[in-house]
Amino acid sequence: MSLYPLFADLRGRPALVVGGGEVAQRKIVRLLGAGAAVTVVSPHLHPSLVELVRAGKVAHQEAEFRPELLDGQWLAIAATANHGVNRAVALAAQARRILVNVVDDAQLSSFHVPAVIDRAPVQIAISTAGAAPMLARVLRERIEALLDQSVGALARLLDRYRLRIRERHPDVAARRRFYSQAITGPVAALLRRARPADAEAELQGALVLGQSEQPGSVALVGAGPGDPGLLTLHALRALNEADVILHDRLVDARILDLARRDAQFIDVGKRAGAHATNQDRIHELLLAYARSGKRVVRLKGGDPFVFGRGGEEIEFLREQAIAYEVVPGITAATACAAYAGIPLTHRDHAQSVRFVTAHCRDSLDALDWPALAADRQTLAVYMGIGEVETVSDRLIAHGRDRATPFALIENGSRPEQRIVTGVLAELVERARRYAVTSPAMLIIGDVAALAERLHWFGAAPLGSGADSSMPVDGEFATAQSYA
Ligand code: SAH
Repeated sequence: MSLYPLFADLRGRPALVVGGGEVAQRKIVRLLGAGAAVTVVSPHLHPSLVELVRAGKVAHQEAEFRPELLDGQWLAIAATANHGVNRAVALAAQARRILVNVVDDAQLSSFHVPAVIDRAPVQIAISTAGAAPMLARVLRERIEALLDQSVGALARLLDRYRLRIRERHPDVAARRRFYSQAITGPVAALLRRARPADAEAELQGALVLGQSEQPGSVALVGAGPGDPGLLTLHALRALNEADVILHDRLVDARILDLARRDAQFIDVGKRAGAHATNQDRIHELLLAYARSGKRVVRLKGGDPFVFGRGGEEIEFLREQAIAYEVVPGITAATACAAYAGIPLTHRDHAQSVRFVTAHCRDSLDALDWPALAADRQTLAVYMGIGEVETVSDRLIAHGRDRATPFALIENGSRPEQRIVTGVLAELVERARRYAVTSPAMLIIGDVAALAERLHWFGAAPLGSGADSSMPVDGEFATAQSYA
C-alpha cells in the first residue's frame, strides 16, 4: 500500500475526536497545534482534557458518539478503547467522506498520523502505512539527530526575504543557486552558531553581491580515526555540503563515501615516506578554492587540532580574511584506547595522560624525557612506529620501569585493527615480530595492560600472556637483549 502524503491546513477548521483518555489527549494537542477547532466526544474526560475544555480551547460533547456529530467536520479521530465505537466512527465518517483515523487500526483508517520531526515551520513526517510504527519511530530518532535546531530559524528567515530574493533573482535558475548558497553556506552556518543577526546581515550582503562574488569558506573537519560511526553530526553535514574536499591520506575511504557525490575530492597527503603535498601548497589550494566561492572542507584524520597542523591553516585563513569553522574529531589516542579497552586514566593506575608525537629525531629531542618517564601517567604516542626504539630506550634511561606495560594499536577502530601488548623492555622486538605499521598508536603505562581483559573490538591482543614463547613478567633479564 502506498499512501498519498499531505500536510493539512486545519486552521479554524472543525475536527472531531472521539474518546476522552490519554491517547485522545495527545491527538488533540497536535490538532490544537495546527490551529484546528476541536470537539471532543466522550462521557468522561482525562483530567488534562478537562483543563483544555475549561480553558475554552476544546469543545466538549459529554455524550456517547452519534454519527450526526460528524456533520460539518473536516476530519475525525477515533481514540476510544472500545473497538465497536471506533469502528462505528470509522464507518460513519467514511459514509460522509470525512477523513478518519482510528488509533492503532490501519484497516479502519482513511488517513494515518505520521511520526513527526518538528522544526517549525519545517516538518518532516514519516509513515510506514501502518506496517511498522516502531520503524517509523526509530527513523524519526535518526533524522532528529541529523537536523540541528537552527533549521526552523533558517526557514523563517528565508520566508521573510522571499519577495526580495525573487526581485533580485527573477531568473529561476539563478534563484535556485542563491537559495542553495544560503541554505548550505554561511547564512545557515551563522544560525547554527547562534548568531541570528549576523546570519541576516550575511543574507542581505549576499542579496547585494552578485552570485559569482559570493565568498567561499573553509571548514576544518576532524574525520576521526576511521570508523565512520565516530564522525560527528557536524562533520557529516559539512561533508554533505562541500563543493571541494581536501583530505589527508589517513582519512578512511568509507568516510569519503559519505560526502556529497559531486564534490571534488583532492588527496593532499601521500603515503608515509613518499612526497606529500607541502603545507604551503595546501594553503594555496584552500585559498584559491575559497576565493572562487567554493565551500571547502579540509578533512583531517582524528582531530584537526591534535598533531594536525590545523592551527597553522586557520591562522593563514584568518590572515587572508576567509571565513572558517572548526569541527572537532575523535583523536587517535582516545579512539584507539577505547577500541582496545584501555582507559587512558584510571584511579588506580594513572592520574594524567600526555599526548606526544615521536614524528622524527627533532621532535623526540624536544620532548621532556624526565617528565615522560615519571610513573602513574599514561603516554599516548602519535607517529611513533618508526621510533619505538628511541622511545623505549629514552624512557628506560630516564628511569621508567622496564616492566611498564605498552599497547600498540594499529589501524585503530577499523575492521583490520590489531593490538600488540607487552612491557616496555619488549617493545622493539614485538613491534618487529608483528610487523606493526603506520598508522599505529603507542600507549605506554599501567593502563595498557588492561587491554588483555577489557578488549572488545576486533581480534584479541597479540603477544598477550597466552603467548608462551614470549618473556613474562619477571624475565626481564631475557627481555633486555631485545632493547
Ligand atoms: N590529527 C590526528 C593525528 C595525526 S598524526 C588525530 O587527532 O588523530 C598521525 C598519527 O596518528 C599516526 O601516525 C598514528 O600514530 C595516529 N593515528 C591516526 N589514526 C590512527 C588509527 N586509526 N589507528 C592508530 N593510530 C592512528
